Amino acid sequence: MTERTQRLLAEFLELVQINCSSRAERPMADALIPKLQALGFSVEEDNAGQTIGGNAGNVIARLAGPAPGPTLLLCAHMDRVTPGQNIQPTVVDGVIRSDGTTILAADDVSGLVAILEGVRRAQEDGVQLPSLEVVFTIAEEGGLFGAKACDASQLHADMGFFFDSNGPVGTIIVQAPSQNSMEFVVEGRAAHAGVNPEAGINALQIAAQGVAAMKLGRIDAETTANIGVFQAGSATNIVPDRATLKGEARSLDPEKLEKQTDHMVACLRSAAQAGGALCQETVNLSYPGYRFEEDHPVVQRAVQAAKAARLDVTLKGTGGGSDANVFNGKGIPSLVFGMGYTDVHSTKESLPVAELERSAQLVYTLIGGTLQ
Ligand SMILES: [Zn+2]
Repeated sequence: MTERTQRLLAEFLELVQINCSSRAERPMADALIPKLQALGFSVEEDNAGQTIGGNAGNVIARLAGPAPGPTLLLCAHMDRVTPGQNIQPTVVDGVIRSDGTTILAADDVSGLVAILEGVRRAQEDGVQLPSLEVVFTIAEEGGLFGAKACDASQLHADMGFFFDSNGPVGTIIVQAPSQNSMEFVVEGRAAHAGVNPEAGINALQIAAQGVAAMKLGRIDAETTANIGVFQAGSATNIVPDRATLKGEARSLDPEKLEKQTDHMVACLRSAAQAGGALCQETVNLSYPGYRFEEDHPVVQRAVQAAKAARLDVTLKGTGGGSDANVFNGKGIPSLVFGMGYTDVHSTKESLPVAELERSAQLVYTLIGGTLQ
């Protein structure tokens, strides 16, 4: 293992052992800010933590560089899923794992350290850097809350690169779906189930009929839909007067997303109408999608960097949303790189040291470094 790989690995092990979770990123932010400052970045923290009820904001760092060309945004998220406290990482046969009682938090500590080490190496090698903006977000897990609360008008980047996907290093995510989240409330009428059921309107049954009429699951190659929460009723002797449902639809095609959303709303409304109940729905765009062609500058930059890092390049789409969706929605063309970790969000999560090394090399070539 080279000295640089050892340093990268040591920093990874250091950061995964810092206790951190969504809305409790303070210790991680406190560790990262001096590291960025040591690389010459001017660092600030935004007020996203206050906005969403966390103890740290998004960490935003800027470095003016002499190289011409676009200003690049480099991003990773600080938070992690549970169980992610007191992680005890081990390295066996070149693979980093937890002790099996926690996640490893390679998602997304690998992104944090790849960015730090890639910039560090470039500076050591005297690379003429482009202007860089680094954002380490809070509360990505569970809803992209930190990215949504980030004031992107403070950023000047022309394109963004997010180090936060599964798939081998060299994977480039060039398309991701839009997602609508939906909540439905069906209101019927309560009555004693044994004494006068005729007076009741069973909201549970009506909601169930609405869901049964829906096309759900995989709708087509670009579109998925789900009802994931259904709550109704309190006792067997009461006709339930209220049912609450939560669901989502995703599509790479905004028109298909609208069509599927309208379909789900229509199913519940017509069931409610037929049964004499009321249906109220709330539909929110959780995040916008994106889709880049191969000749888009952000894709070209990513592919060039991956080739310069001698990676096998794969352009692909994902069915999931990430911070990149949010920053695309804020006007910064952004895509996501695979980090080489496997079994994320589980206690089996692992990361080969070789993949960690490749991700740092990818950052290095992305910002203008040339591998020897
Ligand atoms: Zn992640």
